[in-house]
Amino acid sequence: MILYIYSDTLYKNYNMKSPICEICLKSGLLCTACQNKVTNGELTDSDVSILTLLYKECSKNGDLDSIGIKKLISSKDVELIVCSKGDGKKIVGKGGYLAKKIQDILKKPVRIVEESSNPREFLQNIILPVPIINLNIIYSPKGEKYKIVIPRNSRLPLKLDVFNRLAKELLGKEVEIGFE
Ligand SMILES: [Zn+2]
Repeated sequence: MILYIYSDTLYKNYNMKSPICEICLKSGLLCTACQNKVTNGELTDSDVSILTLLYKECSKNGDLDSIGIKKLISSKDVELIVCSKGDGKKIVGKGGYLAKKIQDILKKPVRIVEESSNPREFLQNIILPVPIINLNIIYSPKGEKYKIVIPRNSRLPLKLDVFNRLAKELLGKEVEIGFE
């Protein structure tokens, strides 16, 4: 299957790093490697639309010149866009215009999360504005997992099962939540 994204070839080259290669973002046709990511479920059609939109926005907005999109994670209620450190604000856009455009395409809320090699910081970015009081590594025969402690009565911005899935996917470990 060939997926036509858009056929405007006027867009210049940008340094946007994304799970889809730039040739595809530019041409509107998916190459075999990128098409395989859609076929095997690593990317959905709506992921492709988001990446294309972001790429298109690069042509209008110098700030977006070098954004990095690491991963798109969809769940029923929310779309998570994991980007390079420091790129969150750029993707949200001035006054939130870009995040809003993405939400309009997906018809669900979008959370933009900056990647971090520090697990506490990464998890913190996922659950903002809820503060993480503490993060511990728990060792068990099944392997390591993280336990984060958040204030009692705090409301996670994501459903717990979605959070668990995301955390596992992004950090490669189970994350347990405790309350203080
Ligand atoms: Zn490609």
